[in-house]
Amino acid sequence: MNTRTAIPTEIIAIGSELLTPYYQDTNSLYITQRLNDLGLSVQFKSIVGDSPKDLQSSIKNAFARARIIFATGGLGPTEDDQTREAFAEVLRKKLILNEAVLNKIEHRFQRRGYEMPSVNIKQAQVIQGAEILENEHGTAPGLWLETDGRTIILLPGPPHELKPMFEYFVWPRLQKYRTHHVERRVMKIVGLSESKIETLIHDLYPEDPSLQVTTLASPGQIEIHLTSHSLRSSEEAMTNLAALEKGLRSRLGENVFSSSGEELEAVVGKMLREKGKTLSVAESCTGGFLGHRITNIPGSSDYFIQGIQAYSNSAKNRLLQVDQGLLDRRGAVSAEVARVMAVNVKSISLASFGLAITGIAGPAGGSPEKPVGLVFTALSWTGGEEVARNLFLGNRQAVKFQSSQKALDMLRRHLLKLETG
Ligand code: ATP
Repeated sequence: MNTRTAIPTEIIAIGSELLTPYYQDTNSLYITQRLNDLGLSVQFKSIVGDSPKDLQSSIKNAFARARIIFATGGLGPTEDDQTREAFAEVLRKKLILNEAVLNKIEHRFQRRGYEMPSVNIKQAQVIQGAEILENEHGTAPGLWLETDGRTIILLPGPPHELKPMFEYFVWPRLQKYRTHHVERRVMKIVGLSESKIETLIHDLYPEDPSLQVTTLASPGQIEIHLTSHSLRSSEEAMTNLAALEKGLRSRLGENVFSSSGEELEAVVGKMLREKGKTLSVAESCTGGFLGHRITNIPGSSDYFIQGIQAYSNSAKNRLLQVDQGLLDRRGAVSAEVARVMAVNVKSISLASFGLAITGIAGPAGGSPEKPVGLVFTALSWTGGEEVARNLFLGNRQAVKFQSSQKALDMLRRHLLKLETG
Protein backbone atom coordinates (compact mmCIF):
# COMPACT_ATOMS: atom_id res chain seq x y z
CA MET A 1 0.00 0.00 0.00
CA ASN A 2 1.36 3.44 -0.86
CA THR A 3 1.83 5.67 2.09
CA ARG A 4 0.32 9.09 1.67
CA THR A 5 2.79 11.87 1.06
CA ALA A 6 1.92 14.29 3.77
CA ILE A 7 5.11 16.31 3.90
CA PRO A 8 8.18 16.06 1.65
CA THR A 9 10.82 14.29 3.67
CA GLU A 10 14.53 13.70 3.11
CA ILE A 11 17.24 11.76 4.90
CA ILE A 12 20.90 12.74 4.60
CA ALA A 13 23.38 10.09 5.72
CA ILE A 14 26.67 11.77 6.54
CA GLY A 15 30.08 10.10 6.67
CA SER A 16 32.85 9.48 4.15
CA GLU A 17 32.96 5.83 5.24
CA LEU A 18 29.43 5.42 3.79
CA LEU A 19 30.86 6.20 0.35
CA THR A 20 33.30 3.25 0.56
CA PRO A 21 32.42 -0.37 -0.25
CA TYR A 22 32.70 -1.32 3.43
CA TYR A 23 29.82 0.48 5.17
CA GLN A 24 26.13 0.61 4.43
CA ASP A 25 23.69 3.33 5.30
CA THR A 26 21.28 1.25 7.36
CA ASN A 27 20.13 4.20 9.48
CA SER A 28 18.01 5.56 6.66
CA LEU A 29 16.23 2.20 6.27
CA TYR A 30 15.35 2.23 9.93
CA ILE A 31 14.14 5.84 9.85
CA THR A 32 12.15 5.16 6.67
CA GLN A 33 10.34 2.23 8.24
CA ARG A 34 9.38 4.27 11.28
CA LEU A 35 8.22 7.17 9.10
CA ASN A 36 6.13 4.79 7.00
CA ASP A 37 4.52 3.63 10.27
CA LEU A 38 3.24 7.19 10.66
CA GLY A 39 2.05 7.42 7.08
CA LEU A 40 4.99 9.55 5.96
CA SER A 41 7.06 8.51 2.99
CA VAL A 42 10.60 9.54 2.14
CA GLN A 43 11.08 11.38 -1.15
CA PHE A 44 14.85 11.76 -1.16
CA LYS A 45 17.86 10.12 0.42
CA SER A 46 21.38 11.29 -0.04
CA ILE A 47 24.74 10.08 1.20
CA VAL A 48 27.48 12.63 1.57
CA GLY A 49 31.08 12.57 2.80
CA ASP A 50 32.55 14.68 5.56
CA SER A 51 33.72 17.63 3.48
CA PRO A 52 32.01 20.81 4.78
CA LYS A 53 31.48 22.08 1.24
CA ASP A 54 29.73 18.89 0.07
CA LEU A 55 27.77 18.74 3.27
CA GLN A 56 26.48 22.28 2.85
CA SER A 57 25.54 21.57 -0.73
CA SER A 58 23.51 18.49 0.33
CA ILE A 59 21.80 20.50 3.04
CA LYS A 60 20.88 23.26 0.57
CA ASN A 61 19.44 20.64 -1.84
CA ALA A 62 17.38 19.17 0.97
CA PHE A 63 16.14 22.58 2.06
CA ALA A 64 14.98 23.27 -1.50
CA ARG A 65 12.85 20.15 -1.76
CA ALA A 66 11.90 18.84 1.70
CA ARG A 67 10.14 20.11 4.83
CA ILE A 68 11.25 17.36 7.19
CA ILE A 69 14.98 16.70 7.04
CA PHE A 70 16.82 14.01 8.94
CA ALA A 71 20.60 13.92 9.08
CA THR A 72 22.55 11.07 10.65
CA GLY A 73 26.24 10.98 11.56
CA GLY A 74 29.00 13.53 11.89
CA LEU A 75 28.06 14.62 15.42
CA GLY A 76 31.23 13.19 16.94
CA PRO A 77 34.12 15.09 18.52
CA THR A 78 36.67 14.87 15.73
CA GLU A 79 37.67 17.42 13.12
CA ASP A 80 35.81 15.58 10.33
CA ASP A 81 32.51 15.63 12.26
CA GLN A 82 30.98 18.76 10.73
CA THR A 83 27.22 18.19 10.73
CA ARG A 84 26.30 20.76 13.38
CA GLU A 85 28.61 23.35 11.86
CA ALA A 86 27.31 22.81 8.30
CA PHE A 87 23.64 23.10 9.32
CA ALA A 88 24.38 26.21 11.41
CA GLU A 89 26.20 27.75 8.47
CA VAL A 90 23.40 27.10 5.94
CA LEU A 91 20.76 28.22 8.43
CA ARG A 92 22.85 31.27 9.33
CA LYS A 93 22.38 30.44 12.99
CA LYS A 94 24.90 30.52 15.82
CA LEU A 95 26.30 27.49 17.63
CA ILE A 96 25.94 28.05 21.35
CA LEU A 97 27.80 26.09 24.00
CA ASN A 98 25.23 24.42 26.25
CA GLU A 99 26.54 24.03 29.81
CA ALA A 100 24.06 21.30 30.77
CA VAL A 101 25.10 19.16 27.79
CA LEU A 102 28.77 19.83 28.53
CA ASN A 103 28.30 18.73 32.17
CA LYS A 104 26.59 15.56 31.00
CA ILE A 105 29.42 14.67 28.64
CA GLU A 106 32.03 15.42 31.34
CA HIS A 107 30.09 13.30 33.80
CA ARG A 108 29.97 10.42 31.31
CA PHE A 109 33.77 10.44 31.08
CA GLN A 110 34.18 10.77 34.87
CA ARG A 111 31.98 7.75 35.51
CA ARG A 112 34.50 5.71 33.55
CA GLY A 113 37.40 7.27 35.39
CA TYR A 114 38.60 9.53 32.54
CA GLU A 115 38.87 13.25 32.10
CA MET A 116 36.93 14.60 29.14
CA PRO A 117 39.26 15.33 26.20
CA SER A 118 38.95 18.94 25.07
CA VAL A 119 37.83 17.86 21.56
CA ASN A 120 34.54 16.71 23.08
CA ILE A 121 33.58 20.26 24.00
CA LYS A 122 32.26 20.81 20.51
CA GLN A 123 29.62 18.11 21.07
CA ALA A 124 27.98 20.48 23.55
CA GLN A 125 27.48 23.11 20.83
CA VAL A 126 23.78 23.54 20.08
CA ILE A 127 22.34 25.27 17.03
CA GLN A 128 20.48 28.37 18.20
CA GLY A 129 16.82 27.52 18.82
CA ALA A 130 17.27 23.72 18.71
CA GLU A 131 15.95 21.29 21.30
CA ILE A 132 18.38 18.73 22.65
CA LEU A 133 17.71 15.02 22.15
CA GLU A 134 19.55 13.14 24.85
CA ASN A 135 21.96 10.37 23.97
CA GLU A 136 21.78 7.61 26.57
CA HIS A 137 24.32 5.47 24.71
CA GLY A 138 27.00 7.91 23.59
CA THR A 139 28.32 11.42 23.98
CA ALA A 140 26.79 13.23 20.99
CA PRO A 141 23.30 14.59 21.70
CA GLY A 142 20.86 14.86 18.81
CA LEU A 143 19.10 18.09 17.87
CA TRP A 144 15.50 18.91 16.87
CA LEU A 145 14.99 22.27 15.23
CA GLU A 146 11.86 23.81 13.75
CA THR A 147 12.65 26.86 11.68
CA ASP A 148 11.26 28.62 8.58
CA GLY A 149 8.58 25.95 8.12
CA ARG A 150 11.13 23.13 8.21
CA THR A 151 11.77 20.47 10.80
CA ILE A 152 15.41 19.43 11.03
CA ILE A 153 16.48 16.43 13.06
CA LEU A 154 20.17 15.67 13.61
CA LEU A 155 20.97 12.19 14.91
CA PRO A 156 24.22 10.37 15.74
CA GLY A 157 25.63 7.84 13.27
CA PRO A 158 26.08 4.67 15.35
CA PRO A 159 22.82 2.70 15.08
CA HIS A 160 22.92 1.65 18.74
CA GLU A 161 22.86 5.37 19.67
CA LEU A 162 20.44 6.47 16.97
CA LYS A 163 17.69 3.89 17.53
CA PRO A 164 17.01 4.52 21.24
CA MET A 165 17.23 8.28 20.67
CA PHE A 166 14.75 7.96 17.83
CA GLU A 167 12.32 5.84 19.85
CA TYR A 168 12.42 7.90 23.07
CA PHE A 169 12.81 11.46 21.83
CA VAL A 170 12.04 11.70 18.12
CA TRP A 171 9.06 9.34 17.85
CA PRO A 172 6.86 11.25 20.33
CA ARG A 173 7.70 14.55 18.58
CA LEU A 174 6.81 13.10 15.17
CA GLN A 175 3.27 12.12 16.19
CA LYS A 176 1.91 15.48 15.02
CA TYR A 177 2.73 14.46 11.44
CA ARG A 178 0.88 11.15 11.65
CA THR A 179 -1.53 10.48 8.81
CA HIS A 180 -2.31 6.86 9.56
CA HIS A 181 -1.75 3.94 11.94
CA VAL A 182 0.20 0.77 11.24
CA GLU A 183 0.37 -2.48 13.16
CA ARG A 184 2.71 -5.34 12.27
CA ARG A 185 3.13 -8.95 13.28
CA VAL A 186 5.51 -11.70 12.20
CA MET A 187 4.25 -15.29 12.29
CA LYS A 188 7.11 -17.80 12.40
CA ILE A 189 6.51 -21.27 11.04
CA VAL A 190 8.44 -24.52 11.17
CA GLY A 191 7.69 -27.89 9.60
CA LEU A 192 5.91 -26.72 6.41
CA SER A 193 7.35 -25.86 3.01
CA GLU A 194 6.64 -22.52 1.40
CA SER A 195 4.53 -24.15 -1.31
CA LYS A 196 2.51 -26.10 1.27
CA ILE A 197 1.84 -22.88 3.17
CA GLU A 198 0.80 -21.22 -0.07
CA THR A 199 -1.80 -23.92 -0.81
CA LEU A 200 -3.12 -23.72 2.74
CA ILE A 201 -3.58 -19.96 2.90
CA HIS A 202 -3.75 -18.50 -0.61
CA ASP A 203 -7.52 -17.97 -0.46
CA LEU A 204 -7.11 -15.93 2.72
CA TYR A 205 -4.92 -13.26 1.13
CA PRO A 206 -6.84 -10.07 1.82
CA GLU A 207 -8.24 -8.04 -1.06
CA ASP A 208 -8.40 -5.04 1.22
CA PRO A 209 -5.26 -3.00 0.38
CA SER A 210 -4.97 -1.88 3.98
CA LEU A 211 -3.83 -5.41 4.86
CA GLN A 212 -0.61 -6.92 3.53
CA VAL A 213 0.75 -10.46 3.74
CA THR A 214 4.37 -11.15 2.76
CA THR A 215 6.01 -14.56 3.02
CA LEU A 216 9.77 -14.82 3.58
CA ALA A 217 11.21 -18.32 3.30
CA SER A 218 14.59 -19.53 4.50
CA PRO A 219 15.80 -23.10 5.10
CA GLY A 220 14.18 -24.39 8.29
CA GLN A 221 11.89 -21.45 8.92
CA ILE A 222 9.23 -19.46 7.14
CA GLU A 223 7.99 -16.07 8.23
CA ILE A 224 4.70 -14.47 7.29
CA HIS A 225 4.82 -10.71 7.78
CA LEU A 226 1.42 -9.12 8.38
CA THR A 227 0.87 -5.38 8.12
CA SER A 228 -2.36 -3.55 8.79
CA HIS A 229 -2.97 0.14 8.06
CA SER A 230 -5.81 2.30 9.31
CA LEU A 231 -6.57 5.93 8.63
CA ARG A 232 -8.67 6.05 11.80
CA SER A 233 -6.96 4.39 14.75
CA SER A 234 -4.36 1.89 15.85
CA GLU A 235 -7.22 -0.09 17.46
CA GLU A 236 -8.81 -0.56 14.05
CA ALA A 237 -5.46 -1.58 12.54
CA MET A 238 -4.96 -4.02 15.42
CA THR A 239 -8.46 -5.52 15.15
CA ASN A 240 -8.04 -6.14 11.41
CA LEU A 241 -4.61 -7.63 12.00
CA ALA A 242 -5.89 -9.94 14.73
CA ALA A 243 -8.70 -11.20 12.47
CA LEU A 244 -6.23 -11.90 9.65
CA GLU A 245 -3.83 -13.67 11.99
CA LYS A 246 -6.63 -15.79 13.44
CA GLY A 247 -7.64 -16.94 9.95
CA LEU A 248 -4.07 -17.86 9.02
CA ARG A 249 -3.50 -19.65 12.31
CA SER A 250 -6.64 -21.74 11.81
CA ARG A 251 -5.02 -23.12 8.63
CA LEU A 252 -1.42 -23.38 9.79
CA GLY A 253 -2.17 -24.73 13.27
CA GLU A 254 0.66 -25.69 15.55
CA ASN A 255 3.21 -25.20 12.78
CA VAL A 256 3.14 -21.55 13.88
CA PHE A 257 5.51 -21.32 16.82
CA SER A 258 5.53 -17.56 17.38
CA SER A 259 3.68 -14.37 16.46
CA SER A 260 5.71 -12.07 18.65
CA GLY A 261 9.13 -12.30 17.05
CA GLU A 262 10.50 -14.99 19.38
CA GLU A 263 12.98 -17.55 18.07
CA LEU A 264 12.21 -21.26 18.35
CA GLU A 265 14.81 -21.77 21.12
CA ALA A 266 13.07 -19.07 23.20
CA VAL A 267 9.65 -20.63 22.68
CA VAL A 268 10.90 -24.10 23.66
CA GLY A 269 12.77 -22.63 26.64
CA LYS A 270 9.62 -20.93 27.88
CA MET A 271 7.64 -24.17 27.61
CA LEU A 272 10.30 -26.12 29.52
CA ARG A 273 10.39 -23.50 32.27
CA GLU A 274 6.60 -23.41 32.58
CA LYS A 275 6.49 -27.18 32.94
CA GLY A 276 9.48 -27.37 35.27
CA LYS A 277 11.30 -29.73 32.86
CA THR A 278 14.98 -29.95 31.96
CA LEU A 279 16.91 -30.70 28.78
CA SER A 280 20.29 -32.05 27.70
CA VAL A 281 21.59 -32.43 24.16
CA ALA A 282 24.03 -34.71 22.36
CA GLU A 283 25.40 -33.33 19.12
CA SER A 284 27.53 -34.70 16.34
CA CYS A 285 27.29 -32.83 13.01
CA THR A 286 25.98 -29.60 14.58
CA GLY A 287 29.13 -29.35 16.72
CA GLY A 288 27.47 -27.56 19.65
CA PHE A 289 25.23 -25.29 17.57
CA LEU A 290 22.04 -26.60 19.20
CA GLY A 291 23.48 -25.97 22.68
CA HIS A 292 24.64 -22.54 21.52
CA ARG A 293 21.14 -21.60 20.39
CA ILE A 294 19.56 -22.87 23.60
CA THR A 295 22.07 -20.99 25.78
CA ASN A 296 21.64 -17.77 23.78
CA ILE A 297 18.41 -17.34 25.72
CA PRO A 298 18.90 -15.47 29.00
CA GLY A 299 17.89 -17.64 31.95
CA SER A 300 18.36 -20.91 30.06
CA SER A 301 20.22 -22.34 33.07
CA ASP A 302 16.74 -22.83 34.57
CA TYR A 303 16.13 -25.75 32.21
CA PHE A 304 19.30 -26.59 30.25
CA ILE A 305 21.57 -29.09 31.99
CA GLN A 306 24.33 -29.94 29.52
CA GLY A 307 25.43 -30.48 25.98
CA ILE A 308 27.76 -33.24 24.87
CA GLN A 309 29.60 -32.66 21.63
CA ALA A 310 30.54 -36.09 20.34
CA TYR A 311 31.89 -35.64 16.85
CA SER A 312 34.00 -38.78 16.39
CA ASN A 313 32.84 -42.36 16.80
CA SER A 314 35.18 -42.83 19.74
CA ALA A 315 33.67 -39.78 21.47
CA LYS A 316 30.18 -41.18 20.92
CA ASN A 317 31.34 -44.40 22.53
CA ARG A 318 33.30 -42.79 25.37
CA LEU A 319 31.07 -39.83 26.29
CA LEU A 320 27.65 -41.16 25.36
CA GLN A 321 28.19 -44.90 25.81
CA VAL A 322 27.05 -45.69 22.28
CA ASP A 323 27.94 -49.35 21.76
CA GLN A 324 30.97 -49.78 19.45
CA GLY A 325 29.27 -52.74 17.78
CA LEU A 326 26.23 -50.61 16.95
CA LEU A 327 28.46 -47.86 15.51
CA ASP A 328 30.25 -50.47 13.37
CA ARG A 329 27.04 -52.16 12.21
CA ARG A 330 24.83 -49.13 11.51
CA GLY A 331 27.29 -46.28 11.18
CA ALA A 332 27.30 -43.06 13.22
CA VAL A 333 24.69 -41.52 10.94
CA SER A 334 21.78 -43.83 11.66
CA ALA A 335 18.44 -43.80 13.40
CA GLU A 336 19.68 -46.32 15.98
CA VAL A 337 22.72 -44.25 16.98
CA ALA A 338 20.62 -41.06 17.17
CA ARG A 339 18.17 -42.83 19.43
CA VAL A 340 20.86 -44.15 21.78
CA MET A 341 22.54 -40.70 21.90
CA ALA A 342 19.25 -39.09 22.99
CA VAL A 343 18.42 -41.79 25.54
CA ASN A 344 21.92 -41.80 27.03
CA VAL A 345 22.40 -38.04 27.28
CA LYS A 346 19.09 -37.89 29.11
CA SER A 347 20.06 -40.61 31.57
CA ILE A 348 23.69 -39.46 32.05
CA SER A 349 22.53 -35.94 32.97
CA LEU A 350 19.31 -36.89 34.76
CA ALA A 351 17.35 -34.52 32.47
CA SER A 352 13.64 -34.73 31.66
CA PHE A 353 14.47 -34.75 27.94
CA GLY A 354 17.40 -35.67 25.71
CA LEU A 355 17.79 -34.36 22.18
CA ALA A 356 20.35 -35.80 19.74
CA ILE A 357 21.59 -34.95 16.27
CA THR A 358 23.81 -37.03 14.00
CA GLY A 359 24.19 -36.46 10.26
CA ILE A 360 26.27 -35.47 7.26
CA ALA A 361 26.57 -31.68 6.97
CA GLY A 362 28.72 -31.87 3.82
CA PRO A 363 29.96 -30.79 1.42
CA ALA A 364 32.00 -34.06 1.49
CA GLY A 365 31.26 -37.34 3.23
CA GLY A 366 28.07 -38.35 1.43
CA SER A 367 27.33 -41.67 -0.28
CA PRO A 368 24.35 -42.96 -2.32
CA GLU A 369 22.85 -44.59 0.80
CA LYS A 370 23.78 -41.71 3.08
CA PRO A 371 23.80 -38.49 1.06
CA VAL A 372 24.94 -35.07 2.26
CA GLY A 373 22.11 -33.51 4.24
CA LEU A 374 20.98 -36.82 5.76
CA VAL A 375 20.46 -36.08 9.45
CA PHE A 376 18.83 -38.11 12.18
CA THR A 377 17.32 -36.18 15.06
CA ALA A 378 16.05 -37.92 18.18
CA LEU A 379 14.07 -37.00 21.27
CA SER A 380 14.04 -39.06 24.44
CA TRP A 381 11.62 -38.64 27.33
CA THR A 382 10.72 -40.74 30.32
CA GLY A 383 8.73 -43.54 28.78
CA GLY A 384 9.66 -43.24 25.13
CA GLU A 385 11.58 -41.81 22.27
CA GLU A 386 11.11 -40.58 18.73
CA VAL A 387 13.59 -40.52 15.85
CA ALA A 388 13.25 -38.51 12.62
CA ARG A 389 15.11 -39.10 9.35
CA ASN A 390 15.64 -35.78 7.54
CA LEU A 391 17.16 -34.87 4.20
CA PHE A 392 18.15 -31.22 4.33
CA LEU A 393 19.25 -29.11 1.38
CA GLY A 394 21.80 -26.31 1.39
CA ASN A 395 25.35 -25.70 2.51
CA ARG A 396 26.97 -26.83 5.75
CA GLN A 397 25.60 -23.92 7.80
CA ALA A 398 22.10 -24.41 6.38
CA VAL A 399 22.17 -28.14 7.25
CA LYS A 400 23.36 -27.36 10.77
CA PHE A 401 20.62 -24.77 11.27
CA GLN A 402 17.87 -27.03 9.92
CA SER A 403 19.10 -29.91 12.10
CA SER A 404 18.95 -27.81 15.25
CA GLN A 405 15.58 -26.41 14.18
CA LYS A 406 14.15 -29.90 13.66
CA ALA A 407 15.44 -31.11 17.03
CA LEU A 408 13.95 -28.13 18.86
CA ASP A 409 10.69 -28.56 16.98
CA MET A 410 10.41 -32.23 17.94
CA LEU A 411 10.63 -31.18 21.57
CA ARG A 412 8.17 -28.29 21.06
CA ARG A 413 5.56 -30.57 19.50
CA HIS A 414 6.04 -33.15 22.25
CA LEU A 415 5.54 -30.47 24.91
CA LEU A 416 2.42 -29.22 23.09
CA LYS A 417 0.99 -32.74 23.17
CA LEU A 418 1.61 -32.88 26.92
CA GLU A 419 -0.40 -29.65 27.23
CA THR A 420 -3.36 -30.85 25.24
CA GLY A 421 -3.55 -34.41 26.30
P1 ATP B 1 30.50 9.36 17.08
O1 ATP B 1 30.38 10.14 18.34
O2 ATP B 1 30.49 7.87 17.35
O3 ATP B 1 31.62 9.81 16.19
P2 ATP B 1 28.85 10.38 14.94
O4 ATP B 1 27.46 10.93 14.96
O5 ATP B 1 29.94 11.32 14.59
O6 ATP B 1 29.09 9.67 16.33
P3 ATP B 1 29.90 8.96 12.76
O7 ATP B 1 31.29 9.23 13.25
O8 ATP B 1 29.42 9.68 11.57
O9 ATP B 1 28.86 9.20 13.94
O10 ATP B 1 29.69 7.42 12.56
C1 ATP B 1 30.14 6.50 13.53
C2 ATP B 1 29.86 5.09 13.07
O11 ATP B 1 28.45 4.91 13.00
C3 ATP B 1 30.31 4.78 11.64
O12 ATP B 1 31.64 4.34 11.60
C4 ATP B 1 29.38 3.69 11.22
O13 ATP B 1 29.82 2.45 11.73
C5 ATP B 1 28.09 4.07 11.93
N1 ATP B 1 27.23 4.82 11.01
C6 ATP B 1 27.32 6.11 10.68
N2 ATP B 1 26.35 6.45 9.81
C7 ATP B 1 25.64 5.33 9.56
C8 ATP B 1 24.50 5.02 8.75
N3 ATP B 1 23.90 5.95 8.00
N4 ATP B 1 24.03 3.75 8.76
C9 ATP B 1 24.62 2.82 9.53
N5 ATP B 1 25.68 3.04 10.32
C10 ATP B 1 26.20 4.28 10.34
